[in-house]
Amino acid sequence: MNKTDAKQMYNKIFKVMGELTPLRADCGALCGGACCKSDDKSIGMRLFPYEETTLPVKVTEDGVHLVVCDGTCNREERPLSCRIFPFFPTVDLRGRVYVEPDFRGARLCPMLDHMDEIIFDKRFFKAVKKVGKILAKDAQCLCFLKESTDEIDTYKAFLKES
Ligand code: SF4
Ligand code: SF4
Repeated sequence: MNKTDAKQMYNKIFKVMGELTPLRADCGALCGGACCKSDDKSIGMRLFPYEETTLPVKVTEDGVHLVVCDGTCNREERPLSCRIFPFFPTVDLRGRVYVEPDFRGARLCPMLDHMDEIIFDKRFFKAVKKVGKILAKDAQCLCFLKESTDEIDTYKAFLKES
C-alpha cells in the first residue's frame, strides 16, 4: 500500500471511530487514565501497519513501532491503538473479523475485570468491527491482525491458568 492509500485508509478509519469510546462516559475518570500513564509502553501504544503519527516513535528490536508519549497528547492525533483500547478487531483463520477484549491490557485496564457489570456503548463495537474489516482488506494489515489475535489468545489462556 502506498502512502496516499494508507493516509486515505486511516482517515476513513478515524472517521469511523469518531469520538466513540467503549463507554458513553469517560472511563478515565474511574482509573485516572491508567492507560495513558503506564510505564509499560508495550500496551496500547503499538502502531498499526502504515500508520503514521506526529508523536515520537521508537522501534523495538523485533521491529515493532511504538508511540512514546509522556501521558499527554492531542486527542485528535492519538494512535488507533489508543482509540480502540482495551478492545481489538481480532480475526479467525478465514479472515472474519470479531471484536474482543484485548487481554494484553488486562493488568492495566480495570474495565476488563468488570465487563459483566458495565453497560457498553454498542456503537463503539460496531465501529471497531468496521475498522477491522477495512484493515483486513490489506494483506499486511490482515497479517498484523492475525498476529495480534494470536498474542491476545495467548494472554487470555495465561490469565485463565493463573
Ligand atoms: S485504563 Fe481502561 S478504564 Fe482506564 S482510561 Fe484506559 S481504557 Fe479507560
Ligand atoms: S498517545 Fe495519547 S491517548 Fe495514547 S497513551 Fe499516550 S496520552 Fe494516552
